Amino acid sequence: MSEQQQVGFVYDDRYLQHNPGLQRLWSTDSDLPFVEPTIHPSNYRLVMRTKHLLDFSGLIESLSRVAPYMATVDDIARYHTREYIERVQRICADGGGDTGEGAPAAADSYPIALLAAGGAMAAVDAVVSGEVRRAFANIRPPGHHAMQDKGMGFCIFNNVVIAARHAQASHGIERVMVLDWDVHDGNGTQDAFYDDPTALFFSLHQDRLYPAEFGLLDQVGEGEGAGYTVNLPLPPGSGDAAYLAAIENVVMPIADAFEPQLVLVSAGQDASTADPLGRMCLTTEGYRRMTARMIEIAEKHADGHLVIVQEGGYSETYAPYCTLAIIEALVGERTGIAEPLPLDGLRLQPQYGHVGASGEEAIAAIRAQYASYWPGLG
Ligand SMILES: [Zn+2]
Repeated sequence: MSEQQQVGFVYDDRYLQHNPGLQRLWSTDSDLPFVEPTIHPSNYRLVMRTKHLLDFSGLIESLSRVAPYMATVDDIARYHTREYIERVQRICADGGGDTGEGAPAAADSYPIALLAAGGAMAAVDAVVSGEVRRAFANIRPPGHHAMQDKGMGFCIFNNVVIAARHAQASHGIERVMVLDWDVHDGNGTQDAFYDDPTALFFSLHQDRLYPAEFGLLDQVGEGEGAGYTVNLPLPPGSGDAAYLAAIENVVMPIADAFEPQLVLVSAGQDASTADPLGRMCLTTEGYRRMTARMIEIAEKHADGHLVIVQEGGYSETYAPYCTLAIIEALVGERTGIAEPLPLDGLRLQPQYGHVGASGEEAIAAIRAQYASYWPGLG
């Protein structure tokens, strides 16, 4: 067990107030008849159950509370257009609606979206100032699909991009690395950093899941930023072994060459084996080990500066345990709490310990694609 580290934790009950409503179908403009609605997948329960699990396990006692604050319009405008920010405000003032493509806001969602972005910023402040060594931001609504001028995929403002730009503008950080392990591609983050060599972006995701037109292997960045968008599309069913192999064989050598001064993670626990929206079969142990690799990168290059920001995760029974494993890794402690899907059983799945043939092929293709930008891969 590693030495205990001071770890910051951002959370606020106001995050529970953002209500994306009910979901009757993926397309909400269908005419009758349709079956009974279900609660929206991006509802309040993920971050609430995560907080309860931290309380119940006692791990909360090992964390330092970092208070979130509201991002200002100027903070949000470091990525989003002012026209879009005003549109979100107007949609909420009018009682709520879609902020773009599948990113619903309710009447009171605007200030909560500002508090989500400000939560990621506060985590950056706490880490960079040395108040804590690492931090986890348990925030919502999520951010990584949000584009400059529209919400997408349950995301209103791109929290991780706004936090990265804040680190660069307010803390003198030059080189930021973002790794997105959400099962979906981080299209908004890719878009924000596409021509920017100061922000290295990795997206590990299920190949062509959502949005299908982003996160493709040939999307490598452009201009000065060519090679600094690193897409790692993996086949469905990849599992812990393939994710770890992709991190060790692609992410770590590139990070060594880039030498980030701050490491941010867009953490989607929707790559878990129990997720209703993803098919990537990660276990709590996979999340624990991926976090350990991020700590290694941050300790080696970034004076330990690591901020993990909550994105998706739709198994309300299992995803909070994946988050617990992440935070246990950040702290360097194991609570030993029993999991709803015991690891002993999950370890029998082939993808737990072995990279499948399709995973090997995908990782080889990724290495070949990026070798001309990053000689360490050659
Ligand atoms: Zn996702």
